[in-house]
Amino acid sequence: MKILVATEKPFSRQATDGIAAIAREAGYDCALLEKYASVDELKAAVADADALIVRSDKVTAEVIASAPKLKIVVRAGAGYDNLDLAACTARGIVAMNTPGQNSNAVAELAIAMMIFMARNQFTPGTGSEISGKRLGIHAYGNVGRIVARYGKALGMEVAAYDPFVTDPAVFERDGVKMAASVEELYRNSDYLSLHIPATPETKGSIGYDLLTSMPQGATLVNTARKEVIDEAGLARALAERTDLKYITDILPDTAAQLSEQFGKRFFTTPKKMGAETAEANVNAGLAAARQIVAFLKEGVTKFQVNK
Ligand code: NAD
Repeated sequence: MKILVATEKPFSRQATDGIAAIAREAGYDCALLEKYASVDELKAAVADADALIVRSDKVTAEVIASAPKLKIVVRAGAGYDNLDLAACTARGIVAMNTPGQNSNAVAELAIAMMIFMARNQFTPGTGSEISGKRLGIHAYGNVGRIVARYGKALGMEVAAYDPFVTDPAVFERDGVKMAASVEELYRNSDYLSLHIPATPETKGSIGYDLLTSMPQGATLVNTARKEVIDEAGLARALAERTDLKYITDILPDTAAQLSEQFGKRFFTTPKKMGAETAEANVNAGLAAARQIVAFLKEGVTKFQVNK
C-alpha cells in the first residue's frame, strides 16, 4: 500500500516525518509530492497511490481518474470543498477531513483579527476594546466553539447561531446565548465571527442585508471561506455604512478594490493563514495518516464526508 502526501503548500518537516513514521509502522510506503507546479505532476504522482493526503490541493475528477488504485483521500484540515466528492463517491473512494485538528489555530486568529481591527490595524490613534462587546458566532462547530470560549474569557457577551445545533443545552453549558435566527445574530453583534462551511446553501449568503443590519461600528470577521461572501453586497454595505469593517483570512476576488475604497475598514491576509501554525500542521497531518491506517486496516470511516 502506498500513501501519497501531495501538498502544493508543504506540511512542516515535523508533520511529514510523523506521517512517514505512521505509514512505516503500518507497513505502508509513503511518498511526498511538494510544491508541485502543475496538475500533470499531481496526476503522475497519484497513478500508483492507494491513499492520498492533501491540504488545500484540488482533488478534481481529472485527478481521481488518474488514480486507479485510490481507495481513500484525506483533506488534512476542516473544509473539504477542494475535494470532488461526487467523483470520489462514483469510484467508491472514501473522502475524509480531519475535523478539530486546526480549530484552535483558526480561533486564535479570529480573536487576533478582532483586536487588530479594534486597534485601527495597529496604527496610531484611539482604538477600542473588545471586552464588553457583543460577539456573534455564525456556526457553532469546532472553531466557533473555541472562539466563543476565548471571547467569553476576554469579557465579551457571546451569542451563536447554527441551524444544525438546535439543543439549547449545548449553548447553556458554554454560557452562550442561542440566537433564534441568523438575522437576530447579526442585528445584535458588534463582532460577527463567521464559521460556516462553503456549501451550495451558504455560498454568497452573507451580503448587504445582513451586514447593514449590524450595529453601529460593527466588524465582520471571516476565517471561514471566501465563497460565503457576496462581495458586491459587501462593497455596497461598506460604502453606505462608513462605520462597518470587514477583515478576512481568505483573499477576496475584489481585494484590490476593497482595499482602495475602504482603507483601514478592510483587511485581508495575503494568503490563508488560519491553520498555519506548527501545532495545527502536525495535528492535521498526523490525524490524516492515522485515519488512513484505521480505514485501510479496520475499515474505520468515522470522519468520512461522502457517506
Ligand atoms: P465544523 O465542521 O466543525 O463546523 C461547521 C459548522 O457549520 C457546524 O456546526 C455546522 O452545523 C455548521 N453549518 C453547516 N451548514 C451551515 C449553514 N448552512 N449555516 C450555518 N451553519 C452551518 O468546521 P470548523 O472546523 O468549525 O471550521 C469552520 C469553517 O472554517 C470550515 O468549514 C472551513 O471552511 C473554515 N476553515 C478555515 C481555515 C483557515 O485557514 N482560515 C481553517 C480551518 C477551517
